[in-house]
Amino acid sequence: KSLIQLEGLTKVFETEEVETHALSNIHLTIRQGEWVAIVGPSGSGKSTLLAVLGLLDTASRGTYLLDGRSVLELSPSDRALVRNRHIGFIFQSFNLIGDLTVFENVELPLTYRGMPAAERKQRVERALEKVGMAHRARHMPGQLSGGQQQRVAVARAVAGDPLILLADEPTGNLDSKNGEAVMQLLSELHKGGATICMVTHDPAHARVATRTVSLFDGRVVQDEQRR
Ligand code: ADP
Ligand code: ADP
Repeated sequence: KSLIQLEGLTKVFETEEVETHALSNIHLTIRQGEWVAIVGPSGSGKSTLLAVLGLLDTASRGTYLLDGRSVLELSPSDRALVRNRHIGFIFQSFNLIGDLTVFENVELPLTYRGMPAAERKQRVERALEKVGMAHRARHMPGQLSGGQQQRVAVARAVAGDPLILLADEPTGNLDSKNGEAVMQLLSELHKGGATICMVTHDPAHARVATRTVSLFDGRVVQDEQRR
C-alpha cells in the first residue's frame, strides 16, 4: 500500500531578489513498510523534502497524498492535527525538553492529541521499554548521554503509532557506538513494520535502508531499491 505519494512536488523559496528551487518536480511514492534513505550533497533539498513530508512546511506546487488523503491544502491547524497524529519525528539534536522528565517528554505529543491519562501512561511505558529506557523514566534529559537521549526521542516518535517515522540525520550528533545503537533500534522498528524515511550523510547507514533516494539540485537523480 502506498503511504506517501508526491506528484510534481515543487518548493521555491523567494528571498529578496533570489528564487531557490529547493525541490523541483518531485515524483515519489513510499509504500508501507519501506525504509527510505534520502541522500545528496548539502543544499540538494533533503531537509526541505523532510519538512514537506512532515507537514512542517508547505509546497509551492504539486500534490502530496498521505495515506490517500491530500494534505497540502489543509489549513495550518488541520495540518498540525495530521502531523501530531500520523507523523513521528526524530531530529539530529534530539529536541527533548530539558525541564521535563523522560516520561513527560514522551507523553507530551499524546497529551496534545487529547489522549486520556491512563492510555498515555500505558503507551509511554511501552515505548520506553521498546527503546530500553524504561528504567530512566524519571530522569531529566540532561542526566542522560546523547545516545540515551536519542533513544528517548525515538520512544517519543513511536509512542503515538505514527504512519511514518521521519528522521533527519538521527545519528549526526552521536559517536559511532551510539550511532550504531540508534541504527539498530531503527532496524528493529522496521522489522516490526514501521515505515521510515531518513536523511543521512553516512553511506553505511544508507545501505541499511531498503531503498536509497538521491537528490541533487532539488531533483531525484537516483532511486535504488535493495530488497
Ligand atoms: P539539504 O538539506 O540537502 O542541505 P536544504 O533542503 O536545506 O538542503 O536546502 C535546499 C536549498 O534550499 C538550498 O539551496 C537552501 O539554501 C535553500 N533553502 C532551504 N531553506 C530555505 C529557506 N528557508 N529560505 C531560503 N532558502 C532555503
Ligand atoms: P542541513 O544541516 O540539514 O543541511 P541546512 O544547514 O541546509 O540543514 O539548513 C538549516 C536550516 O536553515 C533549515 O531549517 C533550512 O530551512 C534553513 N535554511 C537553509 N538555507 C537557507 C537559506 N538560504 N535562507 C534561509 N534559511 C535557510
